[in-house]
Amino acid sequence: MKAKIHPKYQVAKVHCVTCGNEFEVGTTAKEIRVDTCSNCHPFYTGVETFSQAAGRVERFNKRYGVEKNSK
Ligand SMILES: [Zn+2]
Repeated sequence: MKAKIHPKYQVAKVHCVTCGNEFEVGTTAKEIRVDTCSNCHPFYTGVETFSQAAGRVERFNKRYGVEKNSK
């Protein structure tokens, strides 16, 4: 490797904003903040959380005044 042109590779802490989980990775950044991680992402937990669970169709109907049982 050429000298003095490469950023310093180090172990940095990754902090998950959503669940507060912290873990370490090797990176050139000093600190990393993420919105979701393997501890709280639905793909890993198998539990649906966040806004997706509410349903886009229901939100659309609510916004445009379409009642569930009206025909
Ligand atoms: Zn998390």
